[in-house]
Amino acid sequence: MPTNPNHHVAVIGAGPAGIFAARALAKAGVEVALLNQHIRPGGLAEYGIYHRKHRLKAGLRKQFIKALEHPAIHYFGNVAVGEGKDISLEHLQAMGFDALLVTTGSQSPRRIGIPNEYAKGAYHASEIYYYYNGLPLYSQQAPEIGDRVLLIGIGNVMVDIATYLVTERKVKSVTAVARCGPCEIKFAKKEFMRIAANLDVDDFEEETKRIAKRLQEVGENLEGSRAFILSAYHHAEPTGSPTRFTFRFLSLPYEVLTNVEGRVKGLKVEDTYLVFTVGKRPIPYGLGTFRTLEADTIIYCVGTKADPSIGLPVWRDSFATAPRPRYPVHHTSYEAYNPQEMRFIEGIFLAGWARRANFGLVGAVRKDGELAAEAVLHYLAEKETANAPSPLGALGEHLKNLGKPIADKAAWHRLLEVEAREAEKRGTTGFRFTTNEEMLKAAGLA
Ligand SMILES: Cc1cc2nc3c(=O)[nH]c(=O)nc-3n(C[C@H](O)[C@H](O)[C@H](O)COP(=O)(O)OP(=O)(O)OC[C@H]3O[C@@H](n4cnc5c(N)ncnc54)[C@H](O)[C@@H]3O)c2cc1C
Repeated sequence: MPTNPNHHVAVIGAGPAGIFAARALAKAGVEVALLNQHIRPGGLAEYGIYHRKHRLKAGLRKQFIKALEHPAIHYFGNVAVGEGKDISLEHLQAMGFDALLVTTGSQSPRRIGIPNEYAKGAYHASEIYYYYNGLPLYSQQAPEIGDRVLLIGIGNVMVDIATYLVTERKVKSVTAVARCGPCEIKFAKKEFMRIAANLDVDDFEEETKRIAKRLQEVGENLEGSRAFILSAYHHAEPTGSPTRFTFRFLSLPYEVLTNVEGRVKGLKVEDTYLVFTVGKRPIPYGLGTFRTLEADTIIYCVGTKADPSIGLPVWRDSFATAPRPRYPVHHTSYEAYNPQEMRFIEGIFLAGWARRANFGLVGAVRKDGELAAEAVLHYLAEKETANAPSPLGALGEHLKNLGKPIADKAAWHRLLEVEAREAEKRGTTGFRFTTNEEMLKAAGLA
């Protein structure tokens, strides 16, 4: 593809999508400013993926270091982009960047919209995974977790949170609650094997009997799901924890029940039945009968959505993309769009979880970043470069005037070196600082 060495692109967000998009753009001859809210790059690969997956996290970090080595990638960590933040999208465009690629992930908790949803003792999963992963601010707010915990959702994130509760907090009971049946489980068997030893098998058998008729009515393969769970149980890793793990299916959260102090004491759920839809998964509807699940802690593992404060319209949890893209790649639209005004947002592209909230693991997101970079390159190929000074100068000046420390690649490397030395000293694997102050000091920026 023809490229112009004078093109400049600002990539906003240095998670896996942003990092690999930046590398693809740099390799094509574009100068890239990579702006990131967190001091360290990595996004949810650093602050989402389970903190004890040391090998996976270390392997990804190595890939990120290598990807960002390219001299045409200029990293600016500790910079929040958006309306009323360190710099806005409009300002970046006005500085002369030829295109912006937004890869800020999906940062806002999704809500399910029930009474008392966030009573004392109720959390969104992000508050828990940010806490155990040591994300500054969250790392200083230990969640108050009781003995009996309900997890809303049956995806990978639920399994991560359950792993934390079973293997580290060793709480009395953990129940995963789902409005649909076990056929909608969205976690890998290998992941579930981390906690399957704690499954109360008798309870699981009872639960599958309880819902069997309603699943058979819509042709759901209950036996397949049952075999999947029991196979994980038979191959489970030992946990050494007394926690009892159970499931409650076809149970739609209806209201969080609270005590006089306003603390969680349970969850009222409505029984559901499933309605078959051609070519899609069955949809759960309320039956009008209710049950109470007792608990002192509720954690919503229901995903996240894009944060509109960045300055882009959100459509169904993600930043809106153009329905008929001008630069499609593999039939996918990477172009930002204003659905209300039905117009392209000129020169702004999207990738990763910002383009499609919660859509996949790091491998898929990396590919998405690379394909988005292709879309940007198509756009740049049609765009004339003005003989203007590099916007990197204006950006550097603006950030300097903010009067806050900005982490570049060298600062990030210093931070990693100090953390590696600290880990060695403490005899631990994967030590990390958990406050901005400590990180900036280690990076030589305090
Ligand atoms: C709990 C959990 C566990 C997971 N476990 C696994 C796993 O085991 N294996 C796996 O492969 N995948 C896992 N994933 C998925 C993986 O983390 C994601 O696929 C991937 O991180 C998404 O990448 P992204 O670049 O789109 O967004 P993110 O990783 O969210 O990165 C977004 C980046 O944008 C920055 N940003 C946000 N807002 C702004 C702003 N306003 N200005 C500037 N910068 C901003 C953030 O600082 C961040 O660096 C997990 C995800 C979660 C939530």
